[in-house]
Amino acid sequence: NTAAPVSLVTGANRGIGRETARQLAALGHTVLLCGRRAQDAEQAVADLAPGVSGTLLPYRLDVTDADSVDALARSVDEEFGRLDVLVNNAAINYDTARRAVSVDLGEVRRTLETNLFGAWRTAQAFLPLLRRSAHARLVNVSSESGSLEHMSGGTPAYGVSKAALNALTRKLADELLAERILVNAVCPGWIATDMGGPGGEPVERGAASVVWAATLPDSGPTGGFFRHGEPLAW
Ligand code: NDP
Repeated sequence: NTAAPVSLVTGANRGIGRETARQLAALGHTVLLCGRRAQDAEQAVADLAPGVSGTLLPYRLDVTDADSVDALARSVDEEFGRLDVLVNNAAINYDTARRAVSVDLGEVRRTLETNLFGAWRTAQAFLPLLRRSAHARLVNVSSESGSLEHMSGGTPAYGVSKAALNALTRKLADELLAERILVNAVCPGWIATDMGGPGGEPVERGAASVVWAATLPDSGPTGGFFRHGEPLAW
């Protein structure tokens, strides 16, 4: 067991997830840095750990694989007995070139499997551990592509997956309100990662948007959609 907050970030071997893990560790959290492949998580920890004061630990987690999610929840239970922060960051398929009228529904299904069901499955699996935290925070990394006010243009699979993730955020926040578990959706902004491509803002800025929601005070909001701490339209 540890006095430091225990935080778990999915899809943290690269991009915004990796930087979110780094920033949380720099704040003194014990961070479970999860990668779909164990060696990618280990490499990210090896690269980041020398620069931060907190603890970074590599774990394998494929959010589309229920056995992988359940196995990690059991490991975290055994090693820490609780979880304070869950960041559902893993996502795929920013399908800007597609249109809803013609997109392959198999592709849509695969996108939902990671971006919606992956986050949902992970939230369910870790909820018993979040319930043992005095200050539990659940952050769903979403996107303005999922805002119902921004449905023009491409990203049919991705946009629908993030709109559904936003709806899930509201559901979970409502159901967990009485237990004081704060659940919010966050858009990191347009960030220069493999997904975002060049031209976006630096990864530090996107991760800070996520860390804000991961480290809210007990009086902080729940059931909201934010970017850089400011409310976004659903
Ligand atoms: P990247 O594509 O750079 O990284 C995605 C991460 O998710 C990788 O670590 C990837 O692992 C992981 N991942 C994918 N599928 C799975 C899976 N089944 N199980 C576990 N991990 C998985 O994306 P970003 O860092 O740019 O995006 C992070 C979050 O921010 C996403 O939710 C994204 O939708 C959101 N976002 C990003 C924006 C941007 O401009 N970049 C804008 C708005 C929102 P692997 O290396 O194994 O593929």
